[in-house]
This record gives sequence, C-alpha cells and structure tokens, in this order.
Amino acid sequence: MSVAATPASVHVRAPGKINVYLGVGDRQDDGYHPLATVFQAVSLYEDVIARRAADFSITVTGDVDPDTVPLDDRNLAMRAAKLLAAAADYHGGVALEIRKSVPVAGGMGGGSADAAAALVACDALWGTGFSQVRLHELAARLGADVPFALHGGTAVGTGRGDQLNPALARGRFDWILITSDEGLSTPAVYSRLDEIRGIDGALADDPPPSLDVPVAVLHALRAGNAEDLAETLANDLEDAAFDLRPELEQRLLHGVRAGALRGIVSGSGPTIALLCADPESAQHVQAVLRETGVDSLHVHGPVPGARILA
Ligand code: ATP
Repeated sequence: MSVAATPASVHVRAPGKINVYLGVGDRQDDGYHPLATVFQAVSLYEDVIARRAADFSITVTGDVDPDTVPLDDRNLAMRAAKLLAAAADYHGGVALEIRKSVPVAGGMGGGSADAAAALVACDALWGTGFSQVRLHELAARLGADVPFALHGGTAVGTGRGDQLNPALARGRFDWILITSDEGLSTPAVYSRLDEIRGIDGALADDPPPSLDVPVAVLHALRAGNAEDLAETLANDLEDAAFDLRPELEQRLLHGVRAGALRGIVSGSGPTIALLCADPESAQHVQAVLRETGVDSLHVHGPVPGARILA
C-alpha cells in the first residue's frame, strides 16, 4: 500500500483483563513459571492513537502518575511499534498517544493492552497489512499477556500465558474493581510465591500441582453462570500478594460483605476484582462500598480485543 493511501492517524482501543483462574507452576531454570490461566477481557480500556511521524515518541494522558510510565524504549507500546517497524522493514516513525484507564502495575495488563493496541494501530497507519497470526507472533515476543490483549474475549492461556485457546463464554459477567494508588511489581509477587513455596515444607514435598484449568471454570463460563464461576475463582498468586500488601485481603473481604459473590486478586495484584450476580447487584456493591469511602469501578466482560475505532 502506498503511503498516500494510508491514514494520517489511527485510533485503537484495547481492553484490560482479569485472570478468573490463575494456576502457577514451580519456577523453571529459565526463571519463568509455567501458567494455566483463564483471561477475561473487561470494559476498562486503553486508547492508543498513532500519528504519522519521522521519529518514535510517546505521550501518556489519563489518571496516572506520570512517573510510573516510562516514555522510552522501556514502554511496551514503544517496543511494539519498533518491533513491527523492524519486521516490516519500515523506516519511518510514529507518534503514539496513550490514554490510560487501566491502573499502572495493577495486575490488569495495561502495558500489554498498550502494546497490542500499538501493533494494530501501526499496522494500519503504515499499511503493513500483517495477518492476525503474524501480529500474534510479534505480540508473544513482547510479553506473555500481549497476545491476549490482541485476542480479547475469554481465553485459556498456557505456557507463559501466551499460548491461547479461545474459551466459550455466554452472556456477561459483572465485576467491581477496587484499584490501588500504588502498583505491585509482578516479579516481586512471583518471588514471594517462590519463598512461600520454598519455606512451606509440606508443600515442597507434595507433587507439583496439576497445571490444567479445572473443567468447572470452563463449564461456568460456558453456562454464563456467575454463581458457578464464583465458586471456581482461584489465583495462586493471591497469598503472595496478600503477604506483600495485607490490606488487600481486608479489601476483598469488605467487597464480599458488601454483596459480591466472591472476590479475587487480579493477576499479580493489587487490583481486587469482585464478581457480582448481575449489573444491579454490582451497582449495589459499588454503592455500599462508596458509603464506606471505598471508590470502585464497575466493568463487565468479556469484551473484544484490540480494535480500530472508526
Ligand atoms: P503485568 O502483570 O503484565 O506485569 P501489570 O498490569 O501489573 O502488568 P502494567 O501497567 O502493564 O502492569 O505495567 C507494569 C510496569 O511496566 C510498570 O510499572 C511500568 O514501569 C512498565 N510499563 C511499560 N510500558 C508500560 C505502559 N505502556 N503502561 C504502563 N506501564 C508500562
């Protein structure tokens, strides 16, 4: 495609995610932990606008502490744009504007959503025309959660979370999110998990836990049944996150007392995701939390992955 036929700017929206199930295997020699997880994309979005430019640059807006988001090659969206340019042998640049809504270092894959959005936006801006499969390959090289942000919906992730299989999910699930002002470092949470597993003799002698996603999780999703899904929510990183931030456990219990079916730490935390029976129940939980001075967000899933806005 000639440059004249490509747009001057492209606006892409990509969702944050909740891990409704997160099984973590023991740390491998390469430092990574094998995962068996179920992602659900939720209606809290990152918007990335890509504009034609000679060089690469990033600006970030939204309700974020600017000091927490790097604007250089450490930014996953910048890495995504440069990886695509190298793969496509494109010699120009791009000015990326990231409008953040997903909490930074919140366990909801905000940086991964930015990277997925940047891939889709630059592909369209530059007329690269890469297939979904090719974009997925590039996404997996950027980070384990990036392929899911491209894909969206509900999916089972294995390997490092990047080997995806779509999961059938009927209807809509309503979640109340309690975010934190201060993020949690994902590597720190995994290290704490290693410590907990190492010092717990009983666990260390046990055979390694099976890393399959329990069929009950998939059945509940397929039936669109929030009560059943609530029974099966599980996150192997939860104890480690509670250890590092004891107030998270209180927050979760507070949400359940307010009327949620069940609560879970999202990914490596610190965001708490409260599953509610339906939209009305979620509004009720949010109102009860507000009365006790706790701000929250009402989101729903599943929603589509990174897509171009008209
Ligand atoms: P994950 O669980 O995938 O590690 P997260 O959702 O907990 O991620 P992110 O908001 O993706 O957290 O960011 C984690 C760290 O990555 C941040 O502390 C920040 O330093 C860095 N980072 C790189 N690119 C971005 C980006 N586009 N937005 C936010 N943080 C980014």
